[in-house]
Amino acid sequence: MSRVLIIGCGGVASVAIQKCCQVSEVFTEICIASRTRSKCEKLAAELAPRTATKITTAQVDADQVEQVIDLIRSWQPDLVMNLALPYQDLTIMDACLACGVNYMDTANYEPEDTDDPRWREIYEKRCKEAGFSAYFDYSWQWAYRKKFEEAGLTALLGCGFDPGVTQAYCAYAKKHEFDSIDTIDILDCNGGDHGYAFATNFNPEVNLREVSAPGSYWEAGRWIEVPAMSIRREYEFDQVGKKDMYLLHHEEIESLAVNIPEVKRIRFFMTFGQSYLNHMRCLEDVGMLSTSPVEFEGHQIVPVKFLKALLPDPAGLGARTKGKTNIGCIFTGRKDNQEKTYYIYNICDHQECFREVGSQAVSYTTGVPAMCGALMLLSGKWNKPGVYTVEEFDPDPFLEALDKYGLPRRENHSPVLVD
Ligand code: NDP
Repeated sequence: MSRVLIIGCGGVASVAIQKCCQVSEVFTEICIASRTRSKCEKLAAELAPRTATKITTAQVDADQVEQVIDLIRSWQPDLVMNLALPYQDLTIMDACLACGVNYMDTANYEPEDTDDPRWREIYEKRCKEAGFSAYFDYSWQWAYRKKFEEAGLTALLGCGFDPGVTQAYCAYAKKHEFDSIDTIDILDCNGGDHGYAFATNFNPEVNLREVSAPGSYWEAGRWIEVPAMSIRREYEFDQVGKKDMYLLHHEEIESLAVNIPEVKRIRFFMTFGQSYLNHMRCLEDVGMLSTSPVEFEGHQIVPVKFLKALLPDPAGLGARTKGKTNIGCIFTGRKDNQEKTYYIYNICDHQECFREVGSQAVSYTTGVPAMCGALMLLSGKWNKPGVYTVEEFDPDPFLEALDKYGLPRRENHSPVLVD
């Protein structure tokens, strides 16, 4: 019996909400709150006839801490799921602390305004000290550890697929397969085709910021940064086939390097088609990916936000997307003094996701882990005071929940390695 406040009603949230409604014995009441309330009401009306979960809706601007506090105080949830954007992570964490409620999200904090001089000063110092230049990093949310510990509350960070399930795979490998892990390669393959020359599979602004940034990986205790898309590999993915993949910076590398300190190298690769890359380079070259406002015919516009308005809505790609995703981790290391390799991954079919929840697999592979993470917090399996990433918890009940609710794991004990 629990009451869960879900903030955001986009592609990821709509999957997570539908999955919560499939587990109505745990999620007895949910409140869907977002900036645009009509989207929440539409989804609530669709779901009401087919779930025992009682659904209410609310309007909230989660950039405003006071609004989130008022909503939490009036609705009294047991857990707040932040499925809006990374820009709202800190305001929602502040509101949870003010009201004494557990918190979770699917992506680590980054600011909406990267020109903010107060943020920029800290960012530039971090770039120099840490050695990577992504706009997002864990330092902002790790700074809340003591506050959550003292309040006896849990904050679960980054509980989507990657970050999220990929870290549970690492914790599982460490617990069951290895005495020590030497290398981790996280491989994110989307073999889906939506038929558009260019579209992003989740929020375009967040997605394009991520993939147009320099790549980086962790090796021998330090970050190595390389130009965007400059490291390419080809890999034959189970049930998808051969794909080009490119090394990216990705947030889970940062926490894994801390939490599995013996690992000598951690890399993250994502597949991209040529059409996507050509469009992205062109948009970047003409300045369309910029987050800084420009003056246009008397109006201030942010180029990447304008681009978002032109691109297909990721939440609407489901009907057109065919093919599969294949996301997982390849490990090398030692067990009982023997060298070994291990690959754990999930395959998800875009059309099956669409039939079940009306979404494509990228939203599905994020929304299902968010629901399963909430399940871990609500059932007391993952509760400890403080701020944690997924690999810091027991992976077994989480992976069992994923097996049950739509993202079953697969294993290979002699995978082809990435050179
Ligand atoms: P969408 O853009 O589809 O949805 C975002 C939602 O948040 C919208 O409903 C939007 O409302 C709402 N929102 C935005 N700003 C505010 C605000 N100030 N107050 C209240 N609500 C707000 O994004 P996605 O669903 O694609 O992504 C959701 C999150 O999941 C992102 O943080 C993304 O980075 C993360 N993600 C994580 C992945 C993982 O594997 N870990 C993979 C993919 C995504 P409105 O409709 O008014 O715009």
